[in-house]
Amino acid sequence: MLIAGNWKMNKTASEAAEFCAALKDRVAGLEGAVDIAVFPPFTSLSAAVRTLADTEVAVGAQNVHWENDGAFTGEISPPMLRELGVYAAIVGHSERRQYFGETDENVARRASAALENGLFVIACVGELEHEREAGETENVVRRQVSVLSEDDRLVVAYEPVWAIGTGKTATPEQAREAHRFIKELLDVPVLYGGSVTPGNAEELLAQEGVDGALVGGASLDLDSFVAICETAAR
Ligand code: PEP
Repeated sequence: MLIAGNWKMNKTASEAAEFCAALKDRVAGLEGAVDIAVFPPFTSLSAAVRTLADTEVAVGAQNVHWENDGAFTGEISPPMLRELGVYAAIVGHSERRQYFGETDENVARRASAALENGLFVIACVGELEHEREAGETENVVRRQVSVLSEDDRLVVAYEPVWAIGTGKTATPEQAREAHRFIKELLDVPVLYGGSVTPGNAEELLAQEGVDGALVGGASLDLDSFVAICETAAR
């Protein structure tokens, strides 16, 4: 089981170092029972890697470019992340798709470049609310997943967009059904994401096909994130 914390655009480098130092102490006893990863903003990666260096907690980036270098202002490449000691990258988060024009094709290029460079990848997929209401969930998820290729280091996160940061979560049945569908398309671990909290983690993580969680808001608070990790470890 993997619990991944997506910090989004939160925590400066010094705040990240402080959080990771405290996290390290709080999850020391969970090693072996649950895999834990944090995804700080680019500018806080180095501090997180340094603080968590002698632990099993992995550090990942929230995005990655498909080229190794070149004229791509504002982007960060796989070798840049690798040299920092970064272990993984998220690609295709719905906020990237919604606000920054990320397409399925870009997401696929980012994923395969990251994998080729030895990074683990969490590729996010999920339907908008109106797509679910129109009965389009499977078509949307199939389209998003079909550009990805199976890989030992690839993880998919099913994140219904209407559940991200809204306090609404998929019902256990909706999560189970979506995870089953994704696993039919691609034989990889599938995380659930969308308003996971200490209060609902147990039920969501207990569903068949749910291999962990991608946690946004609740990963910013140490007690909440640790509580979700402890639930997964049980
Ligand atoms: C996310 O950012 O991937 C996420 C699931 O956010 P939240 O947990 O806040 O809904």
